[in-house]
Amino acid sequence: MSTQQHPLGISFEFFPPNTAAGREKLVGVRDALAERGPRFFSVTYGAGGSTQDRTLTTVRQVREAGIMTAPHLSCIGSEKGQLRELLARYREEGIDSLVALRGDLPSGMGGIGEFRYANELVEFIREESGDHFEIAVAAYPESHPQAPSLALDVENFARKVKAGANLAITQYFFNADAYFHFVERAQALGVDTPIIPGIMPITNYTKLARFSDACGAEIPRWMRKQLEAYGDDSESIAAFGEEVISRLCQRLLDGGAPGLHFYTLNQAAPSLKIVDNIVG
Ligand code: FAD
Repeated sequence: MSTQQHPLGISFEFFPPNTAAGREKLVGVRDALAERGPRFFSVTYGAGGSTQDRTLTTVRQVREAGIMTAPHLSCIGSEKGQLRELLARYREEGIDSLVALRGDLPSGMGGIGEFRYANELVEFIREESGDHFEIAVAAYPESHPQAPSLALDVENFARKVKAGANLAITQYFFNADAYFHFVERAQALGVDTPIIPGIMPITNYTKLARFSDACGAEIPRWMRKQLEAYGDDSESIAAFGEEVISRLCQRLLDGGAPGLHFYTLNQAAPSLKIVDNIVG
């Protein structure tokens, strides 16, 4: 397996599978993606700690490929004691990189706990563990859905970077200008850490539309119209998605984006095709 890093700085995100078949499939996906020399893999974390054990199990499984693997960690609904224990466990496991998030509390699930926002989690990790962990935080080029304005959201983003984050990964988006605009505004507030675009390959329009509504990512009208016109022709959707997202990635890199982070949804082929289409 090649261990040479991809020159453009790519990374891949997985979610913890909840079946034995899913875990088995992830080994093949991980190996196929490891071939492209990612900087890191990351593994998501269920709201309120609901996947805590599965996130760690998946991190262990994924890092067997020899690629640095960062667990995501969300703080909403958690107490400091719980997170202190989890951080200690991660250190024992030799984990030195985290994606620190607020998360969203599922309806009906307890109180908010001891943390309100991700900047408080970043501060807590720095207080507890000094510089042990490299910390990534989330950024929203089209604004977080709960933010009253983009200006306030960028300020809140800068707050968590200043609390000690080393890099940021964005929510996915289909409008490159939104990304460049966000980066400029963050830099104007003194943020000089890399802001890596999050990339969502397109494979299934119904799921994409549902997810985009929930997380505040806008699907441009011309893309929606085209995707709707394909109906259940999944081959055409995949071909169109590959073309549109490859072009987006190329534009982002040409404009100075410091890498690309792929939301793989535990599938190798859609991300691989895009990676192989882009040139340095
Ligand atoms: P925050 O940065 O805390 O922001 C949340 C909202 O509060 C924003 O509107 C912000 O403007 C506002 N805000 C922030 N700080 C302050 C402050 N100090 N005062 C007032 N307002 C403030 N979710 C999961 O459950 N598990 C995952 O593994 C996961 N991984 C993700 C990975 C990436 C790269 C991204 C982009 C998102 C991920 N999410 C994940 C989703 C994320 O948890 C949600 O988007 C959540 O709603 C916000 O988390 P955050 O860390 O961005 O929150």
